[in-house]
Amino acid sequence: MSQLINGRPYFTSIQTAPCIYPWLSYDESCDVLIIGNGFSAALLAYRFADAGVSVVLAGTDPAGYGGTALSGGILLYETENNLSGLMKQIGRENAVQVYKMQQEAIGNLENLALSFPAAGFTRRDGFYYTNKPEQADQFHTEYLMRRHNGFDVTYIDRDTAMDRFSFPVQAGILSKGLAGEIDSYLFMHALLAAAEKRGARIYENTPVQTLFEEGDGVFAETTAFRKIRAKKAILATGLAPNKNVWGISSKRTSFYLVTKPVEAFPGYTDCPVIRAETQTPYYLRSTRDKRLFICGGESLLASERGRISRVLHMNRLFDIRYQEMEQKLSEMFCGIPKLEAEYRYAGYLPKTGDTLPVFGYAPGRKNIYLHYTAGVNRAVQAEIGSRLLLQLYLEGRCPDLALFSAERETV
Ligand SMILES: Cc1cc2nc3c(=O)[nH]c(=O)nc-3n(C[C@H](O)[C@H](O)[C@H](O)COP(=O)(O)OP(=O)(O)OC[C@H]3O[C@@H](n4cnc5c(N)ncnc54)[C@H](O)[C@@H]3O)c2cc1C
Repeated sequence: MSQLINGRPYFTSIQTAPCIYPWLSYDESCDVLIIGNGFSAALLAYRFADAGVSVVLAGTDPAGYGGTALSGGILLYETENNLSGLMKQIGRENAVQVYKMQQEAIGNLENLALSFPAAGFTRRDGFYYTNKPEQADQFHTEYLMRRHNGFDVTYIDRDTAMDRFSFPVQAGILSKGLAGEIDSYLFMHALLAAAEKRGARIYENTPVQTLFEEGDGVFAETTAFRKIRAKKAILATGLAPNKNVWGISSKRTSFYLVTKPVEAFPGYTDCPVIRAETQTPYYLRSTRDKRLFICGGESLLASERGRISRVLHMNRLFDIRYQEMEQKLSEMFCGIPKLEAEYRYAGYLPKTGDTLPVFGYAPGRKNIYLHYTAGVNRAVQAEIGSRLLLQLYLEGRCPDLALFSAERETV
């Protein structure tokens, strides 16, 4: 698992791989070569194959065992820097457009999931809150901004929150039906199976080590020296740790904790997907088998080679962070008896300056497209990227891609 740095992820632990794909042991040719085999690549393979394009997908890990295995499956219409923050970075109209696209993407994933029950799609409200009194005004302004731009939001003050939640809230924004939950790993497998049914050839354990433009197309070679020729290639490779390419850096670590199943969720009315602006920001959801799933506690890259590791043993560092999260959960949900952690893990989280993904042409290339998602909300971004890149491929242009270009100023 290339993006895992500690522990054992929940979603791949509770289920076995629904399908095992071959590695590429002969030469291939196709219209579109998709490099990668996580959620992004699977969605691309499905969309392109569904449109009648001849597709080959080649991925290094067993399918889904990159960042997808770690994904909390949280879907949000909002960005980490909020509507007001994004407006400052990319302008009012563009920011609202991104929010609308993300809202639409959740609906599109919901529609897709109708054919794939294993995807575990559940639509939820989103609840973004703070427990810091000094942030209440800022939350109210953000609420007004979202409402003014047509999003179905309600402002939750301290007193209203007390009726719904067992944890302290100073101010919050409840976004009606504007969030969701999936099982990213099983959703990804369902997409791969559907893509294969539509003619896509899927290869796992097949790293691509060489890729360049050749004539009117691309040439790729795997580490087993098998050649793939295609008209276009799409890089959907997630991001290797500690790299900084096309404005995406993965220098941060995120921590995850999943509890044992509980009987009910007192103090967590209707189980919205939570995004908290507390001292340590975090995300929280419930799972189909009645667990609490919390992620966050982001820190600079925690690695054996990092500075901290010379002072403190790495396992000790992870244990401290997990204990903090466990403590936080039991304080927040004091009404849930015997809240106990079962899975604890940590992974790299790729980020961009404006929190948006990178989609479109690789700089200076006409036959290589990029499909790089960033931050926590990457399944939603992947849905947008797969549609825009298909449009670019079929129509030769896609104006919306300008928002996500690798060469934009705010990346
Ligand atoms: C800790 C953590 C929590 C997350 N939580 C959420 C969440 O709640 N919601 C959400 O939407 N997202 C979340 N994400 C992001 C999640 O990883 C993405 O949603 C998504 O699953 C990433 O898919 P991907 O296909 O872009 O990348 P990956 O799943 O990383 O897939 C990339 C694949 O490319 C392959 N690859 C790399 N190099 C090559 C090469 N040279 N040749 C061939 N193949 C190659 C690798 O094998 C890898 O499997 C989280 C990520 C992390 C790390």
